[in-house]
Amino acid sequence: MKSVRTRFAPSPTGELHIGNARTALFAYLYAKKNGGKFILRLEDTDTERSRPEFSDAIIDDMKWMGLLWDEGPFKQSERMNIYKEYLNRLRGKNLVYECFCTPEELEERRKIALKSGRPPVYDGRCGNLSEKERERLISEGKKYTYRFRFSQFEPIEFNDIIRKKVTFNPKIMGDPILIRADGVPAYNFACTIDDMLMGITSVIRGEDLLDQTPRQIALLKTFGADIPEYAHLPLIFGKGKKPLSKRDGATSVAEFRAQGYLPIALLNYLYLLGYAPNTDKKVLSLSEMTELFDLERVSSSPAIFDIQRLKFINRETIRITCPDELKGFFIDRLNRRSDLISDEFVRVFKEEIFTLSELEEASDYFFSEGFKPEEFVNKIKAYKQYPGQMITTEILHTFIGSISEDGNFTEEPLRKFIENRGIKPIIVFMIPRIALTGRDKGPAIKDIVKILGYNEVNRRVEAILKLL
Ligand code: GLU
Repeated sequence: MKSVRTRFAPSPTGELHIGNARTALFAYLYAKKNGGKFILRLEDTDTERSRPEFSDAIIDDMKWMGLLWDEGPFKQSERMNIYKEYLNRLRGKNLVYECFCTPEELEERRKIALKSGRPPVYDGRCGNLSEKERERLISEGKKYTYRFRFSQFEPIEFNDIIRKKVTFNPKIMGDPILIRADGVPAYNFACTIDDMLMGITSVIRGEDLLDQTPRQIALLKTFGADIPEYAHLPLIFGKGKKPLSKRDGATSVAEFRAQGYLPIALLNYLYLLGYAPNTDKKVLSLSEMTELFDLERVSSSPAIFDIQRLKFINRETIRITCPDELKGFFIDRLNRRSDLISDEFVRVFKEEIFTLSELEEASDYFFSEGFKPEEFVNKIKAYKQYPGQMITTEILHTFIGSISEDGNFTEEPLRKFIENRGIKPIIVFMIPRIALTGRDKGPAIKDIVKILGYNEVNRRVEAILKLL
């Protein structure tokens, strides 16, 4: 048995889409599960739509997700000579022909075909031109593409790992373009040659490419190459089974990253879309995902994206991520000096957020710019159970007296105050909270005190007392 080789072959024409990220994950897992190799190939032959910055961004996203490749990244734009050589082989076998039809003519015929209920495929007319006619058109300088004589193939059948048995009839599919009029190899051609030369044993990709597969199999057959196994993953849809859009939260890996999702949370979510591993664990590491992966058990029906589920997985991931690693994410996200983000800070705020982007909002009062004494005093006064200036002052003094110099807070003095003065506990605990944070909700008082430290708590309370 040959060892497994899979590839992820995105076209760098935009940001890495979440559907493609799942394809990458499954191709990665399948290689790892089988002790094989995972290859990254950038399909950047389309000079108009491909951009080097998208290639760089895809590479960056792959690294961020931890989907590291064993070979590559290969760039098709650097392999043009190879495709030319294989075109010549096909010409030698009379399996391609020059097609002089213009895009306008093709469009016109497409419309007519659709109107009269015929499949809108190329009718093959340039495949029947005489040698003389062909030479005349070329000498006139007419532009042409190369088409593959695909429609002359017998029906093509293959066993998709997910879709099971699939059959296509080339006779009704038309002859696909292999080389465009500008000399650029079309997707089908470059992809097939590369899968062959890179020894890909298992092609894992989105279902949108299912009908390209018979064309690619036919090409492989003409070169006498081995036919890989195929797995076409169902697509990911948004609400109402519409294509995924911004309304569903986001569509690209970069956006999810910017919104504060952790890479392992995103991967777990993508893993669970259409796949049910045998485990009770809520969040899996990449190696656990590999361990539990079985491509044959991936559902063949479309997956529906659900941002709420992703959010919950993200929260769960934040909670179980080791504090040191999480600290790194926090520091990056808040763009703060690491000494301001203590272990205590990480321990407390990881319970407060679903995504890293909530961190800024959730923790901003903790940093010195976030302490706004005038505003906080106003909030104390606006508190619907505000007990008046006198009692507030007393509460704050008692509060300061309940903190030891090493920043430990004990409730005892405040409890006594409550008992002696008959003031509601909620008020007695709320006043210090608003004084320190300007908010009526948040982490436990003892945690806030611990994070701020004795001196800072003192400084804040002093400032508030002065303004009361
Ligand atoms: N480059 C193609 C795309 O991004 C996919 C190639 C493949 O997986 O066969 O749509």
